[in-house]
Amino acid sequence: MSAIERRKTKEIKIGDVFIGADNPIAVQSMTNTKTSDIEKTILQIKELENAGCEIIRVGVPDEASAKAIRHIKDGICIPIVADIHYDHRLAVLSIENGADKIRINPGNIGDEKKVINVLEAARSYGIPIRIGVNTGSIREEIIKKHGGLNSFAVLESIQENLMIFEKYHFEKIVLSVKSSNVLLNHEANKLISERYDHPVHIGVTESGSDMAGLVRSSVGLGMLLKDGIGDTIRVSLSNDPVEEIKAAYEILGCLDLRHRGVEIISCPTCARTDVDLLSIVREVKKRTADIRQHIKIAVMGCPVNGIGEAKEADIGIAGAKTGFVLFENGHITARVSEKDAINELMIRIRRMLDDDKETV
Ligand code: SF4
Repeated sequence: MSAIERRKTKEIKIGDVFIGADNPIAVQSMTNTKTSDIEKTILQIKELENAGCEIIRVGVPDEASAKAIRHIKDGICIPIVADIHYDHRLAVLSIENGADKIRINPGNIGDEKKVINVLEAARSYGIPIRIGVNTGSIREEIIKKHGGLNSFAVLESIQENLMIFEKYHFEKIVLSVKSSNVLLNHEANKLISERYDHPVHIGVTESGSDMAGLVRSSVGLGMLLKDGIGDTIRVSLSNDPVEEIKAAYEILGCLDLRHRGVEIISCPTCARTDVDLLSIVREVKKRTADIRQHIKIAVMGCPVNGIGEAKEADIGIAGAKTGFVLFENGHITARVSEKDAINELMIRIRRMLDDDKETV
């Protein structure tokens, strides 16, 4: 269990998924197919579901995309969120076609009447709305008033957007503020979390691809999660969205907030390493990819420091001059040749997981 005390928010239901309050932090992603291409979009969502995605957002840039939602829903198991910009009619059409939630930036939807149309449709279908403000879309007057783009400007933008919702007593609200500036992202989310008890969706926008994106998202999301902020999470990467899901679980796992699948601890190797550790780590990763239960596996370069450094692991191997030592819960339980090391490790991992199942 994580030592982090999560901020208490209201509970909201998105399709069959509850977020906020004491519910687990839900992992989201967004498709990058054309939503109007129903077949491709379903295929991508199924891949994301398999990876552990719990809520999926799709872009709705046109009528065909809004209408596709009904058909996409038939092929998937997780709730679908329609992402709308500018055109309130697309929001209403998405709701009529079964969207489980919509995400709008009321600031770019237009006058109050248009926002009210969306609120009325969402109310009659009983679905929540995410008010999503990106720091890039805050009005110039607000930025000037606060002496620049800072957390107070973001708060005022959220307050302005929320005013209509409050006026019409619409309460199924999720808030999100995103910036590509990690520090601003943190400050702004902290400020709105102190002010409101609506559930918060967190992410870092345009975080980039590969390592830069991962680092930016890990730092940005890690700081927020450590402060107890965040009821749903998306790691935005310029990459296959399945990578976003893997990264999200890694981040949540580091903070003991949620675990899914194996956690592999491996050492960086050094002069004491006598085995080809990198290819062994790769192989262990590959052979444990199907495991959904949480288990900590260590793959270390030597037994001198390796076992001690990996003492929190459930099971592991450490390279030695003549093969590997295998250890379970911090104690050496076998010595195996390099050739048999991975097979023996796998046998014991599966046995450990089976024993766990039986004791549940
Ligand atoms: Fe070096 Fe052993 Fe530590 Fe790996 S576990 S970094 S081989 S001392």
